[in-house]
Amino acid sequence: MLSVILPAYNEEKMIGKAAETVGGILSGADIAYEIVFVNDGSKDRTWEEIERTAAQDAHIVGVNFSRNFGKESAMLAGLANASGDCCAVMDCDLQHPPETLIEMYRLWEQGYEVVEGVKRTRGKESALHRASAGMFYKIISGAVKIDMTRASDFKLLDRRAVDALLSMPERNVFFRALSSWIGFRTTSVEFDVQERTEGESKWSTWSLVQYAVKNIVSFSTVPMQCVTVAGVFVLLMAVILAIQSLVKYFSGHAVEGFTTVILLILIIGSVIMISLGIIGYYIAKIYEEVKERPRYLISKRIGGEKRPAEEEKN
Ligand code: UDP
Ligand code: MG
Repeated sequence: MLSVILPAYNEEKMIGKAAETVGGILSGADIAYEIVFVNDGSKDRTWEEIERTAAQDAHIVGVNFSRNFGKESAMLAGLANASGDCCAVMDCDLQHPPETLIEMYRLWEQGYEVVEGVKRTRGKESALHRASAGMFYKIISGAVKIDMTRASDFKLLDRRAVDALLSMPERNVFFRALSSWIGFRTTSVEFDVQERTEGESKWSTWSLVQYAVKNIVSFSTVPMQCVTVAGVFVLLMAVILAIQSLVKYFSGHAVEGFTTVILLILIIGSVIMISLGIIGYYIAKIYEEVKERPRYLISKRIGGEKRPAEEEKN
């Protein structure tokens, strides 16, 4: 059986539509399936919509979070509550074309354990957005050592890969990179990002910046190495300046220039403060991890069979 996991945050208009479209396509292709909706603490009637569709359709499982925990947590909760032999994760706004699920499923039948959806085109975006996304994925690709520039959260995972993902102890999960990191027999299918038909994107520019910083830190220590590089650079400059100052001093005219002193203090001061900020951010993340709080809390679950994994600590 294929479990399709759909995280939903304020998607009241999309629930019925998504269930209908995905269900229609999968039953048309003769694939046994269940649909797992995870309501990520929506402020609208998303949960009521999930309950309504679940009452009419036995294929539907609903998981309700106690509050908004973010998409990454919602996807993991969906995986933990799915009982399929393979699980597909996709957006509930149908921006990931459900027809691609069939292609992914066929590849899984051929023995692939991870089928990644990669974006053929990135859809409509501003040039700035494109450039910053490019830089972000460059850093992440370097950290995972896999090209992630076209990666998405649309993927199909074999039960073994799902269990591997669920066994990861970390709280701060970056799903699309982690699913590459676990390895397994992997292939990819291309898809075109669709236009959103109802509702709106949950991402503001600021939330994307936060998302990028958080995920870079969760996957890479490059920012901290930048601190070291900056330190070495400043040291080199210091040696050059010191030699110049000493030569001048001994040749009879001491370095004049209050300006130099002020500049040096300002530059070095800001480099030190930025470095402390970077290190502080990592410490904050370590603090979050050692608290070992659960990634999400479920207030209600409907439909389907309860999987033992759910009782385990998530
Ligand atoms: N989503 C979620 N929790 C959040 C934000 C988003 O579960 O806190 C879900 C949302 O309902 C959708 C998917 O994540 O199914 C992608 O969100 P969105 O369409 O806003 O992102 P975009 O497609 O613009 O990248
Ligand atoms: Mg979307």
